[in-house]
Amino acid sequence: MTAKLSGTVALVTGASSGIGDATARRLAEQGASVAVVARRKDRLDKLVAEIEAAGGTAYAVPADITDRSQADQAVAEVIDRFGRLDILINNAGLMLLGRIVGADVQEWERMISVNQNGLLYMTNAALPHLLAAAKDGPRKVADIVNISSHAGRQAWANFGVYNMTKFGVNGFTEALRQEVTKKHVRVGVLEPGAVDTELVSHNNDTIKNELAASDAIPEPLQPGDIADSIALMVTRPRRSSIAELWAMPTSQA
Ligand code: NDP
Repeated sequence: MTAKLSGTVALVTGASSGIGDATARRLAEQGASVAVVARRKDRLDKLVAEIEAAGGTAYAVPADITDRSQADQAVAEVIDRFGRLDILINNAGLMLLGRIVGADVQEWERMISVNQNGLLYMTNAALPHLLAAAKDGPRKVADIVNISSHAGRQAWANFGVYNMTKFGVNGFTEALRQEVTKKHVRVGVLEPGAVDTELVSHNNDTIKNELAASDAIPEPLQPGDIADSIALMVTRPRRSSIAELWAMPTSQA
């Protein structure tokens, strides 16, 4: 495959597992230098070593993006290391399911902190660099891809606050797109259906058992399928912007 992202720098949040890990590898294969952000440093170090062993360039930036100073510092570190930023993939996320009545409100706060505040802090810190890349960078275009969800399009009982965070991501993405698209910062939202990752594992046993019992998705997507969609979005010609991409398993109605 041609290295369409040669000379660019990408930052992927939530790169220590699942979709983020696969995306970092895919963007590095396309020639981007990739900064990988998450809290689990050991996972990031292993990922960087594997990308570099395959001939790519990567850099680990351990950070908790729910802390605004850490989000700012993560972007600053990437600029120190690579001197620029062309692509931001806002992927880090948390899905804690359950009833709204009698909920553990701390679980709501944790989801909102990662899925919304973290995405906002990273976007805020990255935007000046993305605008500069769109003006003066090798491609004269920059990218933000926000990972929302099928749950950003459709609501279900038990998904209430996760739904709220992802519907919010969709609205924010479209507003930002309208603000910066004519400056050639492309802003797109990607809404996956079920993907085989660690996402469900953070729930309590009751929820995990309920999900297992109701599981009607025999063949979920693999993280690499979403990485392919992200790579598609960020490798379009400068004139072309994919504002929304809804990526579903064929076995999920
Ligand atoms: P994983 O649980 O495998 O990955 C989540 C990632 O987010 C991890 O790398 C985790 O790293 C990171 N993360 C969580 N909290 C923080 C934090 N405070 N600071 C920095 N990083 C953090 O799940 P997925 O790969 O499935 O999820 C990726 C995205 O895709 C999420 O936004 C999710 O909502 C979305 N999605 C997933 C679907 C699925 O079916 N799997 C379907 C639709 C959307 P660490 O713990 O090391 O910090």
